[in-house]
Parts: sequence; C-alpha cells; structure tokens
Amino acid sequence: MDLSLSEELVMLQRTIRGFVEERLSPHEREIEDRDLIPRALIDEMAGAGIFGVGFAEDVGGQGFGKLGYCVMVEQLARANASLWNVVGASVGLCGTAIDLGGDEAQRRRFLPDLVSAKKIGAYALSEPAAGSDAGSLRTVAKRDGDDYVLGGSKTFITNAPIADLFVVFANADPASGSKGIAAFVVDRDTPGLEVGPSDEKMGLHGSTTAQLFFGDMRVPADRRLGGSDGRGFPIALATLDRGRLGLAAHAVGAAQRLLEASVAYAKGRAQFGRPIGTNQGVQWMLADAATEIHAARLMVYDAAARLDRGERITDRAAMAKLFATEMLGRVADSAVQIHGGMGYMRELWIERAYRDARIARIYEGTSEIQRVVIASGLLEDR
Ligand SMILES: Cc1cc2nc3c(=O)[nH]c(=O)nc-3n(C[C@H](O)[C@H](O)[C@H](O)COP(=O)(O)OP(=O)(O)OC[C@H]3O[C@@H](n4cnc5c(N)ncnc54)[C@H](O)[C@@H]3O)c2cc1C
Repeated sequence: MDLSLSEELVMLQRTIRGFVEERLSPHEREIEDRDLIPRALIDEMAGAGIFGVGFAEDVGGQGFGKLGYCVMVEQLARANASLWNVVGASVGLCGTAIDLGGDEAQRRRFLPDLVSAKKIGAYALSEPAAGSDAGSLRTVAKRDGDDYVLGGSKTFITNAPIADLFVVFANADPASGSKGIAAFVVDRDTPGLEVGPSDEKMGLHGSTTAQLFFGDMRVPADRRLGGSDGRGFPIALATLDRGRLGLAAHAVGAAQRLLEASVAYAKGRAQFGRPIGTNQGVQWMLADAATEIHAARLMVYDAAARLDRGERITDRAAMAKLFATEMLGRVADSAVQIHGGMGYMRELWIERAYRDARIARIYEGTSEIQRVVIASGLLEDR
C-alpha cells in the first residue's frame, strides 16, 4: 500500500503553492477589507488552471481527477477561504452536477466555459424552508410544451451575485416527494430569474451569497440534467459527495497553514524569559493539531483516490467532511489561543481564518447531517 502522491501530483502541489504565495496571498487583506475578489484575480486563477484541475480533458480540464482536485484545493486554502469558495461553488458543485448529470451534448455545451472560468457557476439547492432536509424543496417545475416553468426561491446561494450559470433543483412532481426533483441549467439572463442582494456574513468576505427568486421562469427542456424528471435529487446527492471532499481538503490546507503560523509564533514569542513553545501546555495544542491534520489528510486522499477508482464514497466523504471541518474548528481555536491577544487582532490573518473556519461545519451538510449520512450507511442492509 503506497500512500505517497505521484510525481505529477507533487508537481501540481508545488505549482499551486507557488501561485498562491506569489499571486493570491498579496491580495488577502484587500479582499477581506473590500469584501470583494477582483475579477482579474479570478481570471488569473483560471489562467493557472485552478478551475479545470479535476475535469476531463475533453471538456477543457487537466484530467487530474478528484485526488488532483483535492491536492489543488489544499494549497488554495492557504489564502482567503473566499477564493476557494468561488471555485468550490462554480466547479466543485455547479460544474460537477453538470459533469455527473449531463449528457455528452450538455457536458460539451456548458463545461468548457466553467472549466476556463469564462463563466462562473452556482449550485442552487437550499431554500428558506429546506436546508438540511433538501429533499423537501418547494420550488416547482411545470412542464409546458418544450419548456419547464419554474416558480419558487432559493437561499444562501454561493456566487449568485456573480454567477453566469446556475444549476437549479426544482420539483416536477411534488406528489412524489424528492423522487420528483429535476435539475436544470439556467442562464443568469433568463427572464423571471431575480438575484437578491448579497448576504452579510460573519466571514468568507469576498465570496458572495444571495437569494434567488423564480417568477414563471421558462427553461427549455434540453436544459434538464439526467434525462428524466426525478433524476435531480440523486444528482444533487452525488454532487455533494464530491463537494464535501473538496471542503474537507480545504479544511486540511487551512489548518496546516494555521499550524505553521502557530509553530512559528511559539518559537518566536518569549514570556517568562523563554519561548512560549517550551511550555507543555502550548506543545500539546501543536501536537494535537498536527496529529488531527495528518489523520484528516489521509481520510481525504483515501476517499478521493477511491472515487477516482470508481468506488462509491458517500460514507467516506461524509466522514472526511465531518472530521476535517471539526478539526479545522479546533485548530483555528488553538491558533488564536497560541497567538494570545495578537490572535484576536485584525492586524494578523489568524482572526479572519478563525471566522472563516466556522462555516465549514454548516454548509454542504452540517456536522449533524454528516453523522446522519454515516449512521444510515452503517444501519442499511447491504
Ligand atoms: C455561506 C453559506 C453558503 C452557502 N452556499 C450554498 C450554496 O451554494 N448552495 C446551496 O444550495 N446551499 C448553500 N448554503 C446552504 C447550506 O448548505 C445550509 O445552510 C445548510 O445545509 C444547513 O441548512 P439550514 O441553514 O437550513 O439549517 P437547518 O437545516 O435549519 O438546521 C439547523 C440546525 O438543525 C440541525 N439539524 C437539522 N436536521 C437535523 C437532524 N436530522 N439531526 C440532527 N440535527 C439536525 C442542523 O445540523 C443545524 O444545527 C450555504 C449556506 C451558507 C451559510
């Protein structure tokens, strides 16, 4: 059993690390303060191949698969979490849903623009009354000739204020419950689509979320994914399996950077005439963080490699998301603690990372929902 990365993936890791340090890190403060990611920076990320790493070459991707995507995301996580968030929503969710649910014509029609970030994507599943219980969504899709007419609303949709393309889930047969849900690819300029104002958030500044409103929004039937009504919810869930892995990879990279900063601070900051890192109380925080990061990284790489080999990874993706994001919460808390008063000051990026970390335990399924997924896998008759 060989757990080391291939030469190509080590090269990818180094390239993305260099790009993040040279081109993204200098903008960290500006993104946070302006609550805005300049479009030119998104274009630079696209130029570095960041949006296409995990996709097949036939749609313009680099063919590194899920493991390559996770290796890339881990390094991207060393800058603002909001940068990763734009990528995760656009290709990790919207692009993946099209890749999984689209036929060849749809894949070739929509994916190249997302993979090159010529267009930004968004994934619209959650609704005001359907969050954890996404299968109970109330947006309806009524067939009318060659079109569907959608009515309803979505909430907390990442990238909505900047997106060109949305994957929207709506129920074409409400009497059948989640079995009636269909998925549609919708352009931003579709009449009847209204995007609400950007939400004000605790963190993730620079990444935007907003509500969507559909008022008799007409969508051609050739924009329905999966070949039939009722395929929408399986596509949503399979997409989330993959999205959760990306989120777990982000947590590993963000925690690794916090640990490195904490080690440096523990060596450099002296109290009582010696570095604070000579105290066992500080050492244990560092040791616990390093141990948990190592475990989380192995979980992510293992699940991603299995997915690339064609295995079903629903349980493993939920475990990786649960463990890695809870781990990030603990590591971010220790990092603030080790930095003392400075850890609470906006002068350092640590307090931002602490706020940014909080969302990871909530979106793409809360920690409680990951446990529901893991437990139902354990209890199901196989
Ligand atoms: C910044 C941000 C970005 C987001 N981006 C997107 C996006 O791009 N696309 C999208 O579709 N959605 C997005 N979301 C929505 C996100 O996925 C939901 O917020 C999340 O799934 C939780 O749903 P909820 O907020 O309705 O909470 P609720 O479902 O109301 O849950 C509230 C609490 O109850 C708990 N709970 C619920 N059911 C159970 C249960 N069965 N057992 C135990 N506990 C339970 C939850 O764990 C949570 O603690 C985003 C949210 C945020 C905040």
